[in-house]
Amino acid sequence: AARTLALIKPSVAANPHLVDTVRARVRAEGFAVKAERVVQWNLDDARRFYRQHEGRFFYKRLCGYMASGPFVAMILEKENAISDWRKLIGPTRSIAARLESGSLRGDMAVSDTRNAFHGSDSVNSAREEIEMFFPEEST
Ligand code: ATP
Repeated sequence: AARTLALIKPSVAANPHLVDTVRARVRAEGFAVKAERVVQWNLDDARRFYRQHEGRFFYKRLCGYMASGPFVAMILEKENAISDWRKLIGPTRSIAARLESGSLRGDMAVSDTRNAFHGSDSVNSAREEIEMFFPEEST
């Protein structure tokens, strides 16, 4: 089955009860959690990961958010894992996410930046991101 890299960003990862809710939801939707770890970035780590957004108006606050506390990285496995995980988290923008009932961002995002989740957007980025967070797990 296909794999994707999922992040539970700091605003949600700060609350163990919310993380449990996400894990339960992930399993209920048919994903297997193949690996999981807690990560703490500094600002430079965040700038590297989001370098494609350098210069955008939200870049500074995005990097500040991702370095603001620990977050959870997971390898999720399922048929169509990449698109199904992005569908489950919902739209990037919080207002759009709230309109998508049942989406994880709709329930847990607090703003467009603090949008609670990440999912790889292609087979290539999934491979790269899994390698980045779980070098021992990559294929
Ligand atoms: P991710 O890559 O985290 O899964 P995404 O693919 O849905 O998110 P991108 O366009 O790659 O969205 O943006 C990366 C991150 O930058 C978003 O998850 C969000 O935290 C932040 N971001 C994106 N667009 C905006 C915006 N218009 N205003 C504020 N923050 C934004």
